[in-house]
Amino acid sequence: MAALNLARLISAAADMIAAHAEELTALDQAIGDGDHGLNMKRGFEAVRSEAETFSAKSLPDALKAIGTKLVMTVGGASGPLFGTLFMALGKEISAAPDRANLASAFGKATEAVAARGKSQVGQKTMLDVLQPVHDALLQGKTAAEIADIADAAADATVPMKALRGRASFLGDRSIGHMDAGARSTALLVRTVAETIGASA
Ligand code: ADP
Ligand code: MG
Repeated sequence: MAALNLARLISAAADMIAAHAEELTALDQAIGDGDHGLNMKRGFEAVRSEAETFSAKSLPDALKAIGTKLVMTVGGASGPLFGTLFMALGKEISAAPDRANLASAFGKATEAVAARGKSQVGQKTMLDVLQPVHDALLQGKTAAEIADIADAAADATVPMKALRGRASFLGDRSIGHMDAGARSTALLVRTVAETIGASA
C-alpha cells in the first residue's frame, strides 16, 4: 500500500461529504428525519478544521482522534457509529499498514460498529456497506473494485426493510429507498480508495 497522505485524505473526505450533503439529506428525508447530510457535513468540516493536528499524529492516533471528533460533532445515531468505526480502526491498524493489517483492522472496526448499534448485516444500515467492503479487502480486490463494491452495496439496501434506526419505525414503508448511512459509508470508502489508489 502506498504511504498515506492523511491531510489529503481528510480534505478529500470533507469535500466528498460536502458535495453529497443534499443527496444524503434527501435520502434521510425519505425514511428518517432528514438530518444525515447536515450531520455528516458538520462532522467532516470539524475534522477538516483540525486536519493539521490530526495529520501530525501516527495513523492509529490520528484515526482515534478523528473518531472522537466525529462522536462529538456528527450527532444523531450515526455519530457514535462512525466514531466507533474510526476509533476501532485506530486501535487495530498499524502505523504503516499492509493489506492484511488493513483488512483485519477493518473487520474488527466493522464488528465494533455492529456491537455498538446492536445491528447486523441485512438490516438496512451502514453495516450493509462495511461488511462487503471487509470481504473485498480480504479477497484482495483493487481500490477501484472496492469503491464499486461499496456503491453496489449501498444500492442493495434499496429493497431491504429497515430493522434498525429511525427508518425501522416505518416498517415495510422503508422498502424502496436507499439507506442514508449506507450511502455516506460508500462515499467515504470511494474517497479512501481513490485517494490511496491515485497515490499508489
Ligand atoms: P438519526 O437516525 O439519529 O437521525 P443519522 O440520520 O445521522 O441519525 O444517521 C442515520 C443512519 O445511521 C442510518 O441511515 C443508518 O445507516 C445508521 N444507523 C442508525 N441506527 C443504526 C444501528 N443501530 N446500527 C447501524 N447503523 C445504524
Ligand atoms: Mg437522521
